[in-house]
Amino acid sequence: SPAVSPLAYHDGEFVPLERALLPVTTQALQYGTGVFEGIRAYAQRGGGLAVFRAEDHYRRLLRSCRTLRIDPGHTVEELCALTAELLRRIGTQEDTYIRPLAYKRALLPGQKPGVGLTGVSDALSVNAFRMGSYTDPAGIRCTISSWRRPSSDALPVRAKVTGGYVNNALAVDEARAAGCEDAILLNSRGQVAEASTSNVFAVLRGRLVTPPVTADLLEGITRDTAVTLAADLLDTPTDFRDLGRDELMGADEVFLTGTGTEIVPVTEIAGRPVGEGVPGPLSTALRGAYQDVVRGGEPRYAHWLHPLNA
Ligand code: PMP
Repeated sequence: SPAVSPLAYHDGEFVPLERALLPVTTQALQYGTGVFEGIRAYAQRGGGLAVFRAEDHYRRLLRSCRTLRIDPGHTVEELCALTAELLRRIGTQEDTYIRPLAYKRALLPGQKPGVGLTGVSDALSVNAFRMGSYTDPAGIRCTISSWRRPSSDALPVRAKVTGGYVNNALAVDEARAAGCEDAILLNSRGQVAEASTSNVFAVLRGRLVTPPVTADLLEGITRDTAVTLAADLLDTPTDFRDLGRDELMGADEVFLTGTGTEIVPVTEIAGRPVGEGVPGPLSTALRGAYQDVVRGGEPRYAHWLHPLNA
């Protein structure tokens, strides 16, 4: 396909990505006071590109914004329209990753330096780049991280805050040093919270189990998609309950869900095979169903897809 030049929506304009620059004094860079989303647009079976669950992602972005007192200056509808316009201008028909970022920018005139959330201007950037599936259908290996997921009384873990990702980065770094692809983090109560950028599911006696939002996790949109598809298409209910690391080790199957990750089987945890050590039937079926749905293969979920030209 012809090379497409990456673009960004930045300071109210569509500009080449290399012109979407920020000063080193940017407050969010110094204090981690930004919020973001990761969204995917998929090439559709019937042609064209569609953004998957854009409204749900932007609703979560606006909730994250409220936590950090960021005014992104746009409604959910405007953010969806702006994203569609960005993709149209990029002109790609291939799978694309979209990264909106709303952040604290600069101290307003007369304000004293400091880490506060008021007296600082807000800004919004959205960039997009080509990115297809990157997880291996043969599954990944995970450690159980020595880094705990922070509890929500220390950090707003239900908001997607840039600064909070120091925790995730350290967990991934530790996992890679141990030769694994990802890490599963326990919460401050020692129960399973989530993986570095994905939610965790276990298959136990034919049912799905995933930790509740009170386990200090980010309430993933893919988690919701997985629960819906498992119930509707695979006749498999999900229990939202605390999940211990011992249960994870004894589970028949484990898989991760996330916008970037999509749905990926976990075949090894903390040096032990999960089940038979190969992707299990439910993980594999869900991964396939997800690919079908995001590419417009299941008309009953058309409401999750935002075609670019609609
Ligand atoms: N947890 C964390 C920490 C994440 O960064 C992500 C990715 N946004 C997820 C879970 C999965 O969320 P979603 O399915 O909405 O992408």
